[in-house]
Amino acid sequence: QAKAQGRKGYHFYQPELTEQARERLMLEALLRDAVLQKELFLEYQPQFDIASGELVGVEALVRWTRPAHGAVAPTRFIPLAEECGAIVEVGEWVLKEACATMARLIAAGEAPPKMAINISVRQLEHPGFAAAVGDTIRASGVPAHCIELEITESVIMKASAAIERLQELRAIGVQISIDDFGTGYSSLSYLRRLPVDKLKIDRSFIDDLDGGQDNGAIVRAIIGLARSLNLATVAEGVEHDFQLEFLRRERCDVVQGYLTGRPMRDGELGQLVRRLGVAANDERGGVPLTA
Ligand code: C2E
Ligand code: MG
Ligand code: MG
Ligand code: MG
Repeated sequence: QAKAQGRKGYHFYQPELTEQARERLMLEALLRDAVLQKELFLEYQPQFDIASGELVGVEALVRWTRPAHGAVAPTRFIPLAEECGAIVEVGEWVLKEACATMARLIAAGEAPPKMAINISVRQLEHPGFAAAVGDTIRASGVPAHCIELEITESVIMKASAAIERLQELRAIGVQISIDDFGTGYSSLSYLRRLPVDKLKIDRSFIDDLDGGQDNGAIVRAIIGLARSLNLATVAEGVEHDFQLEFLRRERCDVVQGYLTGRPMRDGELGQLVRRLGVAANDERGGVPLTA
């Protein structure tokens, strides 16, 4: 009787689980295909110097559109890709594509000063990673100092060879920024030893800046910490004027968010660079801090 109950339970729950597992396996398989089938593309989100209003760079963000299904959010497929290992292929494609775009924009005189590219832990763990990055950048003809790699704080904490790998990457000439900073519990002594150039303040702390009295405490603390370690600060996910004003007062260096520019395709980016370049030549003071 008990056994029958168990079986009944088993039969009751099994279909739901397989459904989920099947969808996952399917997405993973499709994702590997996506690279080959050219279903991935990149968008670029502008970053502006808060004090001068100048465009200082863009962040490449991967997009996946499944035929007959539509867009799959990166917050959904990147974690899957990391689990199944497909992130290595996806990551290689992203690096190549971002460098190719940068090379094309440089040739057209429409390039932003810098291209930031997200790197995941599976890539960083690979012993040959820095050499591969060097090869890809060299083959593209883009100067290494135009490339910046973003690595999330939690990843740096997880990867045992992180410091060594970051040193190798920096030796190539690329810059390194810590993404989603403030969410990964780095100890201050560890942070001091990390060969990095920038901290990107996680969006969640920017969201908390609702104009109230104490809500800026964490953002203020991160900016102060960065300053004392000689690191630049980038605020991500800035959507409102009051957030930007707070960041300006606290002397955060760079802003990235919907307020100043949404992620866009490379053609639109080229036009933006042209427009800002012309504006900057026309009247220096009138450079708009927006895309
Ligand atoms: P991230 O690196 O922290 O990227 C910033 C995310 O915030 C992007 O989401 C961007 O579209 C979004 N964002 C920018 N400004 C605003 C804003 O003002 N408000 C709000 N609400 N959101 C804003 P997206 O494109 O969905 O990417 C999510 C995450 O997926 C990224 O977070 C990154 O961790 C990962 N990702 C994206 N592209 C790649 C990639 O090529 N490789 C790897 N390994 N991860 C990637
Ligand atoms: Mg990022
Ligand atoms: Mg980020
Ligand atoms: Mg983030």
